Amino acid sequence: MVNQKSIYNLTGKSKVVSNKKMSFVEKLYLPAILNGMLITASHLFKKKTTIRYPEVKRNYSDIYRGKHVLKRDDEGRERCTACGLCALSCPAEAITMVAAERKRDEEHLYREEKYAITYEINMLRCIFCGFCEEACPKEAIYLTQRDTPADYDRESFIYGKDKLVEPLDKAKRIDVSKRIPKDE
Ligand code: SF4
Ligand code: SF4
Repeated sequence: MVNQKSIYNLTGKSKVVSNKKMSFVEKLYLPAILNGMLITASHLFKKKTTIRYPEVKRNYSDIYRGKHVLKRDDEGRERCTACGLCALSCPAEAITMVAAERKRDEEHLYREEKYAITYEINMLRCIFCGFCEEACPKEAIYLTQRDTPADYDRESFIYGKDKLVEPLDKAKRIDVSKRIPKDE
């Protein structure tokens, strides 16, 4: 038979509830209140485990998955060819896109003959699993260490190409080298 007392003492913190009559001092509650205030005050001088986010940010792990980026190639052309594999692999059904044919005078804009004229990710649905990144055959979509900022408006969490495609300016490109396995 299991010893009930040994179960209670597993953590060493449990106390057996007593129904004994409270003394006069205990009925005043003042010692208990003072004791509680002392515990609270002692925490004022301890090292804090919280930070003042978003002004202060912690360093993320190298494999942290945050806001997505749609990459350009070295010539600044969008890599995405609107194949839809990322959307198909997304367990949250967060990705939608509309494909379009590249025109002759658009070869400097899009790498492939087909491109995404609309590409949207619903960040309220996304669980940042990274399956879209893994599914992409064109190395076009990556998750980065960037945050998706909080907002009060649900519409603002539908991220379109304006928020996803990286800037043309090479100096402002998003570094995703940490998300690419080293042997590739
Ligand atoms: S990270 Fe996962 S949930 Fe988010 S868009 Fe990509 S596949 Fe969908
Ligand atoms: S991001 Fe990649 S997987 Fe998704 S549609 Fe574009 S090329 Fe295809």
